[in-house]
Amino acid sequence: MSTNYDVVVVGAGITGASVGYFLKKKGVARVLVLDRGGGPAPANTGKSAGIIRTLYTLPLMARIAKAALDLFHALPDELGRTGGFEATGFIQLIPPDWMEIIDASMTMQRSYGIETGLVDPSEYAERFPWLEPDGVAAVLFEPNSGYADPVQTTEAYADAFAAAGGEVRFRTAARGLLRDGDTINGVMLDTGPVSAGAVVNAAGPWAKFLAASAGLEMELIAVREQDTVWEVLEGRPMPTTPVGNSMEAVYLRPMGGRRWLIGRGYPKPYIEVDPYNFKVTADNDFALDLMDRMARRIPPLQGAQLIDSYAALYDVTPDWTPYFGPRAGLGGYYDACGGSGNSFKTGPILARELVDWMIDGTVADDFRQLSYDRIGEGNLFKQALGGNRG
Ligand SMILES: Cc1cc2nc3c(=O)[nH]c(=O)nc-3n(C[C@H](O)[C@H](O)[C@H](O)COP(=O)(O)OP(=O)(O)OC[C@H]3O[C@@H](n4cnc5c(N)ncnc54)[C@H](O)[C@@H]3O)c2cc1C
Repeated sequence: MSTNYDVVVVGAGITGASVGYFLKKKGVARVLVLDRGGGPAPANTGKSAGIIRTLYTLPLMARIAKAALDLFHALPDELGRTGGFEATGFIQLIPPDWMEIIDASMTMQRSYGIETGLVDPSEYAERFPWLEPDGVAAVLFEPNSGYADPVQTTEAYADAFAAAGGEVRFRTAARGLLRDGDTINGVMLDTGPVSAGAVVNAAGPWAKFLAASAGLEMELIAVREQDTVWEVLEGRPMPTTPVGNSMEAVYLRPMGGRRWLIGRGYPKPYIEVDPYNFKVTADNDFALDLMDRMARRIPPLQGAQLIDSYAALYDVTPDWTPYFGPRAGLGGYYDACGGSGNSFKTGPILARELVDWMIDGTVADDFRQLSYDRIGEGNLFKQALGGNRG
């Protein structure tokens, strides 16, 4: 077998890049991060809307999201770069039937130090001149949240990893895992086998195929997600933050200037596709429906022009919560996938806690449940809302 590594990480999206970074930060000597794409974030991370919020009803996800938000604020100290993070705040429009769940969620979130609250309706006209408030039960505001540039953030982790002595190889596909009994001990590349003390499977929606190459099962589906970019007419009053509009099940975020990214949010139909063969452009009727929904709530969007649209993938687990950690009875293998539409913001913290588990053997009780073992044990997470609302 060729070159020995302590750890090989398959995938250089936000997950793989940050796993590599935290492994080097922990002092692991020989780490390889590889991706079949041409640079950092070549697949789903690069197409992410990049919204960073802490609104999760699942305590584990709220805790991780808070830590993730803190890390985004600290990126200049951690990596010397901002990752394109803009701490604009985040707005969620709440429908009446969510109110009870949101009230309980905010209490739980505050116990983790998250700043969140409902805006007094008397302030709507002044603070949100763009909003049609009819039927909205509440406007939730997170002052410290915002959005970031997924490619810049991933580049920042990949570059810091390389600067710390990590090896990155692009245009390099892992054709399979190498297995010796109950141990995974490397990966097969086109150039031949590469041995490793451990392999981290951060291959996103393709992780189940990598796992299957060593006879490992993985319940994971790929769901096609479409996003659109619009240019609004000059002089229109628009939000200054990303907006999750759960009244019409759409979201939007600023892209700079008059450009806005708009996509469909929870609740909506989730359609499984083949991750090796799916349509990467958005559907025409999807874009029209999207604007119709959003302009009902944000009338200044009327007349906006569609300038781009595309589709990428969510890697979705049965409980919309990721797989991170080792598996019982199997050495040298770690799952780091199944972001289920959440892992741009949470990926680096999931990576950090995974690395603590791998290298120090320390793991928080709630994090331990992220192991794929929960599927066999029937110990799934239970969400109060659903989809990637957690
Ligand atoms: C349209 C859209 C909008 C989203 N919006 C948000 C949002 O607003 N906020 C948020 O937090 N999250 C959002 N998400 C989710 C988030 O982007 C993902 O959860 C996250 O980017 C997943 O990162 P990843 O590194 O785990 O996977 P990926 O980005 O899918 O990376 C996996 C990598 O593995 C590589 N790979 C796979 N198999 C192999 C192999 N055999 N050999 C070598 N390389 C391989 C692939 O090339 C790929 O680069 C969105 C996702 C989409 C699609």
